[in-house]
Amino acid sequence: MIRHMRALALMAILVSGSGAVFCQVQPFHVLAFHSTHVEQDHMDFAKQAIPFFEAMAARDHFDFKETTNWDDMNPVVLKQFQVVFWLDDAPSTPAQRTAFEDYMEHGGAWFGFHIAGYMDNRKTWPWFADFLGTVFYGNSWPPLPATLTIDDPSHPAMKGLPAEFLSPANEWYSWVPNPRHSANIKVLMTLAPSNYPLGFKDTLVGGDIPVTWTNTKYKMIYTNVGHGNKILTNPQQNLFFENALLWLAGREK
Ligand code: ZN
Repeated sequence: MIRHMRALALMAILVSGSGAVFCQVQPFHVLAFHSTHVEQDHMDFAKQAIPFFEAMAARDHFDFKETTNWDDMNPVVLKQFQVVFWLDDAPSTPAQRTAFEDYMEHGGAWFGFHIAGYMDNRKTWPWFADFLGTVFYGNSWPPLPATLTIDDPSHPAMKGLPAEFLSPANEWYSWVPNPRHSANIKVLMTLAPSNYPLGFKDTLVGGDIPVTWTNTKYKMIYTNVGHGNKILTNPQQNLFFENALLWLAGREK
């Protein structure tokens, strides 16, 4: 009899436990900014990324919206979204930049791709240079695949990824200073030494060149991938995109 009652009690815990798990899956809201008058290869990435993340939204139960109006980077709109993407551009006006700074300083989350990190002089926007931990220095050309190594397999955004994988054709950037040595920066992926020299017309000759990182002072991930129409063709890299977004939204997978 006692054993039977214990079994009933255990069942009650399991039932209420599963109910609690169900209630925890709250939809979060993502707003992806992109542009219609930027480099064609960057728009090609955005054009493919939007349906890719819309499909993920259906699968993972979140809300995904996109806009080409960068003036939506204002406090009224931003407060409706838990995560903001910059797919192929960056804010250009003081009002947009200030709104983004306030959003990030007060718990917002950001996923930046490729050109989103392009700024060749920290004087352009010093806050962003500190936020990213570096500024653009150079690039490879033409777009080529490259082997990426995982720096921190324990980070939730790296869950399920192999120690290295071949990232599809991309234009790769180099940075000064090396973001690895900047305050609060934690590097997640790096160009493997075996890639060098990388490029023909413009060549990255070697060195330690991080590709994906986070600034631990914020809820943010920057990845240098995001150039052209091949980016979303690798299931391992696609898993990173999904892991990263769910981590940014506070819902680790
Ligand atoms: Zn590019």
